[in-house]
Amino acid sequence: MAEEYGPTGRVMPHFPEAPPRKPGPATVISMCNQKGGVGKTTTTISLGAALVEVGRKVLLIDFDPQGSLTVGLGYNAHELDQSIYHVLMDRSLGLKDIIVETTVPGLDLAPANIDLSAAEMQLVTEVGREQALARAIHAVRDDYDVIIIDCQPSLGLLTVNALTASDGVVIPLECEYFALRGVALLKETVEKVCERTNPRLEIIGLLGTMYDSRTLHGREVLQTLVQGWGDLVFHTVIRRTVKFSDSTVAGEPITEYAPTSPGAEAYRQLAREVLVRCPAM
Ligand code: ADP
Ligand code: MG
Repeated sequence: MAEEYGPTGRVMPHFPEAPPRKPGPATVISMCNQKGGVGKTTTTISLGAALVEVGRKVLLIDFDPQGSLTVGLGYNAHELDQSIYHVLMDRSLGLKDIIVETTVPGLDLAPANIDLSAAEMQLVTEVGREQALARAIHAVRDDYDVIIIDCQPSLGLLTVNALTASDGVVIPLECEYFALRGVALLKETVEKVCERTNPRLEIIGLLGTMYDSRTLHGREVLQTLVQGWGDLVFHTVIRRTVKFSDSTVAGEPITEYAPTSPGAEAYRQLAREVLVRCPAM
């Protein structure tokens, strides 16, 4: 078979069909980049839904006070009685008490809204302030195969909590100049968390998003990314398409809203690529 070069300029490997799920606690992934608008929330929803299609039970945790994940899955963030904020602040309340179902069977959500912005301040004075989310997740790890945390665009205490609770980090990056700025700082944060609160944390991969194959600079950004980060860069690249904002308005993952679209297919491929990198999933 002829070799095929992918958008990152490397030969595109074949990603096997997802193996059957294995028993054991969930793999926890943080979707992280301190820059906003790079595709964290979109990737959290779409990757989560693609993993459900291959038999995984998935929990998505909204850990951004903007509540975009909550809204993207069809909930009104202003009308939540209880959210992840209450779990962080009230030890008698567990994640189980606030988890809701989504339109996709097997895909659950721990919702958030603007209340969460107060948690950062309130946690600062607590002992074990970096471990608050990890403690909450511990109680539901056996109920899921994969847990994905949608981080806020900052490297503050909430994101440190997410990293402390995670096995791995996925870093979405817009395929634009300047996208690479800040990734070094994020890597430093991951290393610090590794040293101080969570030695098992690893970077799973960097994901190029909003890629436009018609422009030279999209390709150049991907090439620069591969030069700097090598095999950490996912072969899968997500193209720019309005289908993603349309599916947000519909409150559904793209795999449901436009199941045969290239965007849905790209996230299915990403799910297979992530499963190769995280064999415990
Ligand atoms: P973040 O969570 O990093 O802030 P989002 O996932 O919310 O980023 O994406 C920011 C905006 O870009 C949203 O309006 C989303 O619908 C849109 N978007 C995300 N991915 C793509 C893509 N591949 N193509 C086009 N638009 C996208
Ligand atoms: Mg977001």
